[in-house]
Amino acid sequence: MSGGGVAASASVSVPASVPASVSAFAPASAILTPMPAPPSDVAVIGGGPIGLELAVAFRQAGVSCVQFEAGAIGSTIAWWAPGTQFFSSPERLELAGVPLVTPDQAKATREQYLGYLRSVVRQFDLDVRTYERVVGIERTETGFRLRSVRSSHGVGGPEDNADATPRHAGPETRTETLTDTRRIVLAIGNLHRPRSLDGVPGVTLPHVSHYFAEPHRYFKRRVLIVGGKNSAVEAALRCYRVGADVTLSYRGEAFDPRRVKYWLRPEIEWLIEQGRIGWHPCTRPVRITPEAVTLAPVEAAEPITTVAADDVLLLTGYEQDPRLFEDLGVELMGDARAPRHERETMETPVPGVYVAGTAVGGSQRRTRVFIENSHVHVERIVRAITGRDPAFSCDAVYASLEES
Ligand SMILES: Cc1cc2nc3c(=O)[nH]c(=O)nc-3n(C[C@H](O)[C@H](O)[C@H](O)COP(=O)(O)OP(=O)(O)OC[C@H]3O[C@@H](n4cnc5c(N)ncnc54)[C@H](O)[C@@H]3O)c2cc1C
Repeated sequence: MSGGGVAASASVSVPASVPASVSAFAPASAILTPMPAPPSDVAVIGGGPIGLELAVAFRQAGVSCVQFEAGAIGSTIAWWAPGTQFFSSPERLELAGVPLVTPDQAKATREQYLGYLRSVVRQFDLDVRTYERVVGIERTETGFRLRSVRSSHGVGGPEDNADATPRHAGPETRTETLTDTRRIVLAIGNLHRPRSLDGVPGVTLPHVSHYFAEPHRYFKRRVLIVGGKNSAVEAALRCYRVGADVTLSYRGEAFDPRRVKYWLRPEIEWLIEQGRIGWHPCTRPVRITPEAVTLAPVEAAEPITTVAADDVLLLTGYEQDPRLFEDLGVELMGDARAPRHERETMETPVPGVYVAGTAVGGSQRRTRVFIENSHVHVERIVRAITGRDPAFSCDAVYASLEES
């Protein structure tokens, strides 16, 4: 991308309180590239939908932008099971004013949306450095120096969490690239690692996963699913329909209408009522073996039942890896550990460091930040940096709505 200047009103000062070096992830063996190119105006970390929308807005505003994505673009969506449909309506997922047209006027599937993301990148000729993971950020006189390494997949998802190497280091840390920038936007998402069921024997067995894979693989398998929100319910329905013998274990007494989509709830409730899907409310797994899962009441230790299972899906949600925020000195707030930021500008208390997209929400127990109510972050950041609105309109009405 060609580098135009930002508006004169936009100035960046960097606080003395920020540590001079926030490069906690440096592998000792890394070979440093001698000199980075001249600084860009902005570096966007993350090539998910919101990071890409920001990159379009910067391009159109003449702001020079370098963008890093640890995997392929949209890598969070790429790890969903094939054929997964968005819960959000297509028009709410549109980026930078580019229509998202589905062939059947239904909600977009994972595949359709990934195709859409590719077309957005091509249409605006975005220069995303894919398979390039930011592993450290240092303060410089004019802004920040990013250290990135080659990476074989995005942050989060089954491949990332199967890595034995420390998160952010990635498996391929042999060469390292330095990039200077005046500002940073962290659009890193928040589904980086599964919520762990600490202390449950057997959680690391090979037939236990936090990720619902290609449904076909569950044909004629006994599948025990732990969870009771959208992902668990959807996986239960899809496994049932491919011919699996499905049982659900859920902490709650019943499905919460605020956490299970209104079109999924009657289906799962009916199948449970009919005895076609097994149901153990108010339970939690206390032991997993290669053949079975032992369940106990949520509030008691004494097991109440053992369910035979060939596959175990622990669909109890995901958490954000906050290390880039922590290392930059951005305060993390509340139980969700959400990065502190100014609502009107999305700038964190560390001048020049912004946050966008679902990264804003931290590790949300109940998801409140989605793609549709994140478009407005793009508008706020572009306005804060350039003093102007983006060339496309970010439909602010979605910002105040529940996902649908
Ligand atoms: C089954 C399922 C269904 C869902 N349905 C919906 C839905 O209907 N509507 C909705 O809005 N949301 C839905 N979501 C959530 C959806 O995935 C997020 O809303 C969406 O991906 C957020 O976009 P984003 O750009 O904020 O972040 P992400 O898409 O998560 O993008 C962040 C990107 O940053 C990259 N990254 C992170 N750290 C680094 C680093 N250090 N260096 C380089 N790159 C990095 C990651 O690899 C990732 O690609 C669903 C999630 C699941 C699991």
